Amino acid sequence: MTPQDDQQPSLSFFAGAAGQPESPICSGKGCRTAAAWVLVWNNPKLHTPDRRKTWLACDEHREHLSQFLGVRGFLKEVLPFAEWTGTEAQAEAQAQPPVAPPEA
Ligand SMILES: [Zn+2]
Repeated sequence: MTPQDDQQPSLSFFAGAAGQPESPICSGKGCRTAAAWVLVWNNPKLHTPDRRKTWLACDEHREHLSQFLGVRGFLKEVLPFAEWTGTEAQAEAQAQPPVAPPEA
């Protein structure tokens, strides 16, 4: 991912919150909003068919990031962050056989 080097100073009050667990944030460029969605995707040119990559998105960037992946045919599914609790990591470890995209 591209380094988020254009953070807004308006959120600097978070910097003083030492000891605060780092909450997952949106993958949108420069976005520091807490993630509300998980975009599950796979690039057939780089990944085996059963491999799953994930992007995190806030409400604002869910559509943009979904389209970015969707137009390339990478997007697999979009899940509410609350429903994504490491199940993808388990699925990846199960070495499932390759399957064709259902919409093909
Ligand atoms: Zn965002």
